[in-house]
Amino acid sequence: MKITAIKAWQVDLPLREGRYSWSNGNFVEVFDSTVVAVETDEGITGYGECCPLGSAYLPAYAAGVRAGLAELGPKLIGCDPLALGELNRRMDSVLRGHAYVKAPIDVACWDILGKASGLPVYQLLGGAAQADVALYRAITQAPAEAMASNIALYRAEGYTKFQLKVGGDADDDIARIRACRAMLEPRDVLVADANTGWTLHEAVRVAAAVADLDVYIEQPCATYAECLSVRRRTMRPFVLDEVIDGVETLLRAIGDQSMDVINLKISKVGGLTRARLLRDICVSAGVAMTIEDTWGGDIVTASIAHLARSTPAEFCFSATDFNSYGTVSIASGAPARVDGRMTASDVPGLGVVPSFNVLGAPVLMIA
Ligand code: MG
Repeated sequence: MKITAIKAWQVDLPLREGRYSWSNGNFVEVFDSTVVAVETDEGITGYGECCPLGSAYLPAYAAGVRAGLAELGPKLIGCDPLALGELNRRMDSVLRGHAYVKAPIDVACWDILGKASGLPVYQLLGGAAQADVALYRAITQAPAEAMASNIALYRAEGYTKFQLKVGGDADDDIARIRACRAMLEPRDVLVADANTGWTLHEAVRVAAAVADLDVYIEQPCATYAECLSVRRRTMRPFVLDEVIDGVETLLRAIGDQSMDVINLKISKVGGLTRARLLRDICVSAGVAMTIEDTWGGDIVTASIAHLARSTPAEFCFSATDFNSYGTVSIASGAPARVDGRMTASDVPGLGVVPSFNVLGAPVLMIA
């Protein structure tokens, strides 16, 4: 099989809540997502999607996905989409870095592999380790009382895991964590995600001030060294996210025992091929994962569901149903949340069909 064409569509994904805010004053009101189709000489087409969390979260931005695809795409025409290892080596040899640009192509080729073999992607990633996967809800940064009422709202919808967007003023963040934990039942999971927003002394202050609470601390500071320093001074379970971007950083962090959980984002690491590798290393090392992406719509949510469903429950800390955060559906067949959980389709491939009436005309056509 050979890749004959690569197409891309730009689509706006407005938020139900109107705005998503996190550390350092960052926010997004309309997400800019890119849907990718990889076409083949055997009539099978695969789909992927990449949606950065704005431009200030990781070294990634929405227009960069399309610029990168225009650069990379022509060099992939004629490649075998079923040979995913070779395809990834090809992508890495013609474009250094830019993992997020490669992710939607890699995911689309997993969709092709599933359609060609008649198997759902979760089967190809190791098989159904879970019938369905537990989801967390991200709680946008706001005053403590507003975040606590938001938690109550989403708890009523069936979520039992919550990730607070902190990383603001340390005293405000302590109040946020206390108010939100007070809303929850003992078995509910609470994560305080600072998204690199605290300085060292602020992170240590917050961690000490909530030491009596059942709360996880996620990515307190910008650098790995700072996070490790905080980790060594708190007894709270610890999550690393932004600084774990590949095998090298993951192995170092495992060696240093610098976290209990990582946040594995498919586009951050370059697609499902790399995400599966990191997932398998984590399972071997006893590190649990939140399996998700930077953001996205129905196609991103489907790829998350397949990776999460093929991950053992005890290592699948949580996953994200991004398609329930927005007001626009871009594909049929995507996972739908039921009681705070979702599952991956049993249809061959990812199980999603893009809604071309929503996507409009392609913004990029490479053949
Ligand atoms: Mg995070």
